[in-house]
Amino acid sequence: MGKYYDKFEARSNKERKLKQDLCFSKMVQSGYKQSPVLRKILDKHHIKPSSIKTREDLERLPVITREKLVEMEMKKPPYAGLENPSVAINRIFTSPGPVYEPHLSETDYLWARAFFAAGIGPKDIALNAFSYHMVAAGLTFHNGLRKVGATVVPSGTSSSQIQVQLIKDLKVTAYVGTPSFLMSIIDKSKELGFNFKKDFRAKKACFAAEPFLPALRQTFEKEYGIDTYQMYGATEVGDVAYECSRKNGWHICEETIVEIVDPATGKNVVAGELGEVVVTRLNDIFFLLRFGTGDLSRLITDKCSCGRTAYRLAGIAGRVGDAVKVRGLFLAPSQLKMVQTKYNNIPLQGIVTRDGYHDVLKLRIEKINPEIGTANWQIKFEKTFRDICTVKVDHFEYVEVGSINPGDKSMIDQRQM
Ligand SMILES: [Zn+2]
Repeated sequence: MGKYYDKFEARSNKERKLKQDLCFSKMVQSGYKQSPVLRKILDKHHIKPSSIKTREDLERLPVITREKLVEMEMKKPPYAGLENPSVAINRIFTSPGPVYEPHLSETDYLWARAFFAAGIGPKDIALNAFSYHMVAAGLTFHNGLRKVGATVVPSGTSSSQIQVQLIKDLKVTAYVGTPSFLMSIIDKSKELGFNFKKDFRAKKACFAAEPFLPALRQTFEKEYGIDTYQMYGATEVGDVAYECSRKNGWHICEETIVEIVDPATGKNVVAGELGEVVVTRLNDIFFLLRFGTGDLSRLITDKCSCGRTAYRLAGIAGRVGDAVKVRGLFLAPSQLKMVQTKYNNIPLQGIVTRDGYHDVLKLRIEKINPEIGTANWQIKFEKTFRDICTVKVDHFEYVEVGSINPGDKSMIDQRQM
C-alpha cells in the first residue's frame, strides 16, 4: 500500500489548478451543448462558455443552493435539465424534497480517498451502517470501500443488536456510519454483556453526515481504542473532503473545486476566513456548477505533514443562517463552542454592537476560576480565539459564575440595521 490513494494527491498546487481548470472549462463547454438549462443560465449572465477558463471564472455564475435545486427540479423534472442526456445514468437516488440525483457513474469511486487515508484496505472487514434504501449513502460508501479492497458487510440501518452480532460474528475491523449510531452500538454491546474494546476487533471508524464533537472523538479513541476519521460530502456533489492521519483539517478531493464564499455576494472570501462551502464537481454527467452546501468552513492552505498537497477544510463551523458577521468576517456559534472546549467548557457569549461605522465584538466570560481574566490568561485566550474564530475580540467582560444561561444564544447581534 503506497502513501497516497493516487499520484494526484501529492502533485503541486500549480499542477492541480492547471488540470482542474482544464477539466472545468471542458465541463462548461460540454454542459453548454448538452444541457439547455445550463445554457440558459450562462446566456442570462452573458457568459460565453469559451470565456470560462479557470476556477476564478466560477464567480461569474450564481451559487445554486439546495432549495434552488429543488425548485429547478420541480420546474424541470427529474434532474432540473442539468443532466447530460447522451450519458446513460447508472443509478438514481433521492433526498427529501424530493430531489432526484442522477448518480455519477459506478466507476467514479466516491469516498475511496477517504477510506484510503483512514488506513482501510484489503485486510479490513467493514460494516457499512449507512442506509442503502433510496439515498446515495449506502451504495456510494460501499463502492468506495470495495475500491480500496475492503470486504463490506452491508448492514445498513439494521438494529444495533444485529450490528453488534455482525461485528462479533464476522470479526468486523472497521465501522462506517454516523458517530451517534456507533455509540448506540457500543451501548448495546455493553447491555449484551460485551466489552467492546476487548471482545471485538473494530478499531477504525469513518464518520459522515453528522457533526463529530471532540468529546465523543476522545471517548471513541481513548476509551474504546477506535481510530476515527471524518468524511464530508453531499448527495448532489459526492465526496468533497476527508481527514488524513494528522486529523487537522479535511483534504479537498481531487475531483472537486471548493470555494469558500460570502453567502450574501457569492464572492470568494480571503483564504482562511469563514464562509459558505460551495462545490463544483468536475464531471460530464450532471452539470451542477457552484452548489451551495449551506455549511460554513474555512480553508487551510498550509502544508499538511501527511504529504497531501490539497488544501483542507477546517471542519464545519455551522450553517450559513447561524453565523453573525463581524467586520466582514463570519463568526459562528460552533466556533465559540470550539474555544469553550479548549477552556474547560467555560461559559462564553459574544455580543456584536456598532460604534459609528465600526463593528465591536464584546465577549462575556464567566470567571469559573481565579486565573481567568489575568493578563497572562487573556493573552493566551486571545490567541486561541483568533486562531479558531479569526476575529479579534475588542472588549472582554468577566462575569460571575451563573451569569450566562446555558439556554442563552451564544452570539447576540445588537447592531441597529
Ligand atoms: Zn494531511
